[in-house]
Amino acid sequence: MSNQPNDFTIVPMNKQKRIALVAHDGRKRDIIEWVKVNKDKLSKHFLCGTGTTAKLLANETELPITAFNSGPLGGDQQIGARIVEGAIDFMIFFWDPLSSQPHDPDVKALLRIAALYDIPVATNQSTADFLLTSPLMEQEYNRKIIDYTKRIHSRTEAFDNNQPMV
Ligand code: PGA
Repeated sequence: MSNQPNDFTIVPMNKQKRIALVAHDGRKRDIIEWVKVNKDKLSKHFLCGTGTTAKLLANETELPITAFNSGPLGGDQQIGARIVEGAIDFMIFFWDPLSSQPHDPDVKALLRIAALYDIPVATNQSTADFLLTSPLMEQEYNRKIIDYTKRIHSRTEAFDNNQPMV
């Protein structure tokens, strides 16, 4: 399925980003340290996270962080849904590449949705450092999202005309 230039919608991101913070158990100490080091920068943005990560970070850093359900209980899916709705536009996910998770399918779904909605995502500390020190953190930014309205229209037209739905 190829993308035509006019197949995209521009979605503006404000200077104040809406950041989701998530860490697998094996990376929770690392994300706490990282948030402590970057507390001043992060305090300028709206923060939320999966249940356990958000509660630990709020306790350890005293930053206001909205907590969704714990990841294995659907927290990743809640974050994914908010990305779709445009309520979250940035994600720091300290992902553990050495252990499988009961909710691996949810994690995969979340990363797919983040890619689809053109959300900046860090899945390790160096990427998180590069993202947070980007000048774009202090600026508005236009995300480029595939416009499925046009795509759905052309697919339904193809269906009506008995043509392949690509
Ligand atoms: P948790 O979930 O913050 O509730 O531990 C994180 C995850 O998705 O594993």
